[in-house]
Amino acid sequence: MLLFKKDRPQGPYDVVVIGSGLGGMTAANMLGRQGHKVLLLEAHNKLGGLATWFRRPDGKIFDISLHGFPAGMIKTCRRYWNADIANRIVRIKKVRFKNPQFDLETDFTEEDYKRILHEKFGLSSQVAQGFFDALREMNFYDRPETTIGELFNNFFPGRNDIVRFLLEPITYANGSTLEDPAIAYGIVFSNFMNKGVYIFQGGTDLMIELMKTELLKNGVDIKLHSEVEKILIENGKVVGVQAGGETIGSRAVVSNAHLLSTIFKLVGPEHFSPDFQKTSEQVRPNTSSCQVYMGLKQGESIPYMGDLIFCSKARQFSTEMLLNPAIEGQTFSFYYPEMRPHREQTYAVVSSSNARYEDWANLSSEIYQKRKQHLIDRALADLEELVPGVGRKIDFAEAATPLTLERFTRHPMGASFGTKFEGLEASKKLSEEIAGLYHAGSVGIIMSGWLGAANYGAIQSHAVNTYLSLQEGVSHDTIS
Ligand SMILES: Cc1cc2nc3c(=O)[nH]c(=O)nc-3n(C[C@H](O)[C@H](O)[C@H](O)COP(=O)(O)OP(=O)(O)OC[C@H]3O[C@@H](n4cnc5c(N)ncnc54)[C@H](O)[C@@H]3O)c2cc1C
Repeated sequence: MLLFKKDRPQGPYDVVVIGSGLGGMTAANMLGRQGHKVLLLEAHNKLGGLATWFRRPDGKIFDISLHGFPAGMIKTCRRYWNADIANRIVRIKKVRFKNPQFDLETDFTEEDYKRILHEKFGLSSQVAQGFFDALREMNFYDRPETTIGELFNNFFPGRNDIVRFLLEPITYANGSTLEDPAIAYGIVFSNFMNKGVYIFQGGTDLMIELMKTELLKNGVDIKLHSEVEKILIENGKVVGVQAGGETIGSRAVVSNAHLLSTIFKLVGPEHFSPDFQKTSEQVRPNTSSCQVYMGLKQGESIPYMGDLIFCSKARQFSTEMLLNPAIEGQTFSFYYPEMRPHREQTYAVVSSSNARYEDWANLSSEIYQKRKQHLIDRALADLEELVPGVGRKIDFAEAATPLTLERFTRHPMGASFGTKFEGLEASKKLSEEIAGLYHAGSVGIIMSGWLGAANYGAIQSHAVNTYLSLQEGVSHDTIS
């Protein structure tokens, strides 16, 4: 049931899910489907978390995080959502790189990458094949200590151009750096290389609407505008949450809020063992993002340019360059009207760049506005180089910064992809520390992005289901 602002959730619940990002929604959907009494509480005025969009009065619509995900999302949506949602996932046709080292196009499959490595970068076919074989052999549980930088150095010593070709898209995708574990890169890159890059035909708004319908069909109670202030713990066990000053009893809680907010704000460090507190203090939030949303006037068009263009001016590639506030690199996502065949849509282009929160926090409002304008100017100038004449067709340009992300998601430091790699271990250990407490949401490089978050939500729903089943027949300390 969809609860309105004035409605009081009728607890106690089996599970309260805090936050409706793809991790939270997928966990809620699975638990609802399994017959549990589930309440999904979202602080914002719509579902989706970072899987979101915004509209402007003249009908322009912009997607925030619909740039591309691996083919695995089709299976995930079919299993944990429904066939209608899965069937709307389509492959994008063309990805382009434009930088001082190379300008090329690819369909982002392993075959095409191997061809380009050989034909354009002069690499022997054996070395290219060896690299992809090494990625395939990587196993998450082996946990080798090799970093991404070392992996590249083993296969392509001194080849900054090849590193750029292989890493730039993944760095844009989830903020990975050369210092991150190679295993994390290997899994994400192999996932993409499996069958190319996909998006949701119809846009984020349609996908979230279909997911909402499915949640309600599975009996999940949903309440928007409902920020959870506390997860309530008694005798080392979850007993409910406090939202809007009211207490709602539940046997288990799945938090889709950022992992660090979950531990340090919603629960409070005093409820955890000293060892776990120490582990959690070492978890780093992931980096953040800036975006510029550009909309074309009604009736104006641009030719098909490809769907994603990784564009940068830096002569050499470094992950630092992608974070630089001077915006040395940005990714352009092109949205053509065919993307939303069910509604009238003008052409839209969204530029994304990685960003550090500290470069944007604590600025005077004058400097902040100037920096935002710089983002917009830079995006328009770079886009003009790609599509000459586009500037006079654009009648809307607006920028978002790490502060925007922080405001809309409550994620510390506006983190775009949850935490760095070490977050996954802390997230998985929550239920060993406090009975009935689970976290589902972007953690590490693997469990992030649309696919990672949704899959992690499903994994955690199984753990919650097992916990609840073991509790059956036992009397519970829930608050009604
Ligand atoms: C600019 C940008 C571009 C991206 N592009 C891509 C892409 O192309 N492909 C891709 O796969 N991924 C992309 N991502 C990443 C992807 O969007 C995220 O990894 C994923 O959507 C995160 O899902 P999540 O489950 O972690 O929850 P989130 O989306 O982080 O949502 C968490 C939710 O919890 C709510 N919440 C927090 N605290 C509380 C509270 N106390 N009470 C109630 N509710 C609360 C928030 O309001 C939010 O709705 C992008 C991200 C960004 C920022």
